[in-house]
Amino acid sequence: MLKIVYKRHLNEIKTKKRVFRQLMCTFAKQKINDMIDTSAFQGKTAVYYTLGCKLNFSETSTFGRMLQEMGVRTAHKGEPADICLINTCSVTDVADHKCRQAIHRMVRENPGAFVVVTGCYAQLEAETVSKIEGVSLVLGSNEKANLVQFLSEAFVNRNNITTYKTEKTKDIKTFAPSCSRGNRTRYFLKVQDGCDYFCTYCTIPYARGFSRNPTIASLVAQAEQAAAEGGKEIVLTGVNIGDFGKTTGEKFIDLVKALDRVEGISRYRISSLEPDLLSDELIDYCARESRAFMPHFHIPLQSGSDEVLRLMHRHYDRQLFADKIMRIKEQMPDAFIGVDVMVGCRGETPECFEDAYEFVKSLPVTQLHVFPYSERPGTSALKINYVVPEKEKKLRSKRLLELSDEKTISFYEQYIGQEAEVLFEKATRGRAMHGFTKNYIRVELSPADAKPEFDNELIRVRMGDFNHDKTALKATIING
Ligand code: SF4
Repeated sequence: MLKIVYKRHLNEIKTKKRVFRQLMCTFAKQKINDMIDTSAFQGKTAVYYTLGCKLNFSETSTFGRMLQEMGVRTAHKGEPADICLINTCSVTDVADHKCRQAIHRMVRENPGAFVVVTGCYAQLEAETVSKIEGVSLVLGSNEKANLVQFLSEAFVNRNNITTYKTEKTKDIKTFAPSCSRGNRTRYFLKVQDGCDYFCTYCTIPYARGFSRNPTIASLVAQAEQAAAEGGKEIVLTGVNIGDFGKTTGEKFIDLVKALDRVEGISRYRISSLEPDLLSDELIDYCARESRAFMPHFHIPLQSGSDEVLRLMHRHYDRQLFADKIMRIKEQMPDAFIGVDVMVGCRGETPECFEDAYEFVKSLPVTQLHVFPYSERPGTSALKINYVVPEKEKKLRSKRLLELSDEKTISFYEQYIGQEAEVLFEKATRGRAMHGFTKNYIRVELSPADAKPEFDNELIRVRMGDFNHDKTALKATIING
């Protein structure tokens, strides 16, 4: 039986939700067992599958921790689970397809399991998801923050397929806090969610709602908790991080300064900042005053053609982008700068692409993240007439990826023979160990030099030549 419960239903349970919101605000010390009856979950097992961005991975990891507090353990590899949780993405039509495949696979591999689907694809295509055989619970973006509550309600009433989804973008207001390590060395701290920009090709504002954020104080508390757990590096994640402050009236620069003061955290990275929101004040602070914010930036350009930027409704022109890059490089010559570029979007004529290519080539950036444009239903980009053929998109992607390789290799080459401090990551015994320098150069320790005690430690190395597949510089320990 398909039961769709929209916002009306949410009002009926708003008292409980308020309690749960408070619970989420203090997520580091959640006492879920005190709030709901968890007896039905004791001894149950769960598997998790995440598609998409770092934000999703961070959220899934937090959901796993919450379920663990309810008595649910993660199933061993190959062991069928009682609960499957799939956190979806809808950034392209390929992502949508992968979500459906992942759901089918989870249902097949875990017969009789209670299957929960949440995330952007669940929000945008709730009905499609709810019709997939074996799905038990579909949660939209607003409901994700109260996942445990919805799960506990639906789990006892297993004959129904239930969809909880807030329909209007403006009503997506909850914030699911998240600061998780997952299996990785570094923590991912979610500082913001949603976006107000509505670029013409993008569905994220429809999937995640408008920009919102928690307080600086709550984020500092989460960073302190990560430090207490032994975390040394935190990546700030969000959808449009530079927009931080919309909810609380605070400023992103003040968040950065407050986090910088957290003892025990040696490194912060910012996962992505829109160029128009990357303030000169922030660049100057990172260059001159910051203790722990790394010389590492990730800035979405999307196109180096002003004509295409205008069609995309981006909030800057390429001169502004170039000015930001030059300011970073003048003050932090060693900075690693990653840049997102989209190719083949509607309106990108061959002339526009060549113009954009030459612009990107001229910039002192380190790496390009190249995304072929994907048509998304409901976006205003579909009104633009000029469509780039798929074959041409592939050729443009290839050229930009080759340009990216050239830029990354020439950046790495400057550091051959130099010393650096590296934060090493856990490695399988007998395998090479990897880590990153402050400015995000990946280094590799040979299996003979790798030691388990190097995991999550800051260690000085000397960098040598490239490794076999040119994905890292070989390193030797100094005084090791
Ligand atoms: S800034 Fe543009 S591309 Fe990024 S999430 Fe917002 S609407 Fe999408």
